[in-house]
Order: sequence, then structure tokens, then C-alpha cells
Amino acid sequence: MKQRIVLLGPPASGKGTQADRLAAKFGIPHVSTGVLLRSECARGTILGQAADSWTRQGLLVPDELAIRIITTWMSEHGTRFIFDGFPRSVAQAEHLDLALSGLAAPLDLLIVLDLTDEEIRRRTSSRLSCLNCGATFSAPLDTLAEGWNCPRCGAALIRRDDDRPEAVEKRLEVYRELTAPVIGYYEQTSPHLLHRVNAGEGSDAVFTAISTLVFLK
Ligand SMILES: [Zn+2]
Repeated sequence: MKQRIVLLGPPASGKGTQADRLAAKFGIPHVSTGVLLRSECARGTILGQAADSWTRQGLLVPDELAIRIITTWMSEHGTRFIFDGFPRSVAQAEHLDLALSGLAAPLDLLIVLDLTDEEIRRRTSSRLSCLNCGATFSAPLDTLAEGWNCPRCGAALIRRDDDRPEAVEKRLEVYRELTAPVIGYYEQTSPHLLHRVNAGEGSDAVFTAISTLVFLK
């Protein structure tokens, strides 16, 4: 079974949801840099304040900050993980490879969730998030509204600033410029680990496809 997994994909491709389901099924920790950073923001730490000013504009946090958050997590929790939202640039991918080779624990699965821009815009415009547990919900589908309690943990649901249309366009631009090349980097360095899944297929079908990959020897 795979133990060190990276989920890559554009905004709203379902990385967080799939990582949660994988974590529940296989007992591998789901590590979301977004959730880690937002929890720093909510607590008002210096790291959080630094991150907040970037993410609110739909921008990525600087490489150094993202790498610091991930290496800190690994030093506290070990090297079994599902990364969601990291690495987000080639520099971050290179740092991760370096850190993991130092620990003799290389990545063993890379999954790219593919989604069209049109579907990304549609999904983000109806999405509500829980800042406490990181869950996301599609508002019309789940008949939820801003301010309602998170069905999972009870905290208030919000529409994240970075899901507003201007920020989404910015995130798409940033994704194309910085994150899409990460896929190119892995195509070059680890083509045997890389698998593409159509994220437009619906959550259950995507989960089945990914679970099969995690089980594969
Ligand atoms: Zn919650």
C-alpha cells in the first residue's frame, strides 16, 4: 500500500475531499497546507498573519513558508501522509524531494485530478467551507448556507474569500503559472508514480479510481 501520496489539481478539483476519504479508509494522515495555514491565521500567529495577506488575494504563500509548515509537520508526525495543496511550485517539489530523500522515504504515488476551468468556476461559486475542520460543501447540493453549522464539526460555515470570483480567476492564473509546471516536473523525475484521474467524474468514481492506485503494489 502507498504511504506517501501527493494529490495535485486545480482549485475545486476535490483534493481535500478525496484526501479526507483516503485518510478515513487507509489511516494515512491528510495534510492540507491550506488547513494548516488557515488554522495559523485563525490563531493569529506570526506565521498565520504572514500567510493571510497572500491567500486573501488568491495568491500562493511564498515557497519558504509552505516548506517550513510541511517540514515542521513531518518532524512532528513522521513520513506517512497525503499532501493536498503541496507542493504548489517546482521549487517546493524540489525541496520536498530533497527532504524525503534525506529521510530515505521517497514519494510513492502522485495523483493529478483534472478539471476544466468551466467546472472549476461552477464549483467554487457554490462552495462553502468550514475553517475549523477543513470540510467543504456545495451549497445548492447540500442545501446549506453561510453561517450555518458545519455538518461534521458544528463550527460556522463561510464562503472563503479565495472562492470569490476575482480570487478564483487569480488562483487559476497562479495554478497555470506555478502549479501546472509541478506536474511537468514529476513527469520528468517520477513518471512511473504519476497518474491522472478525471475529477469531473463525481466524487465516488474518483475515489474508487484513487483507492485502486493506493492499493497497487
Ligand atoms: Zn467543520
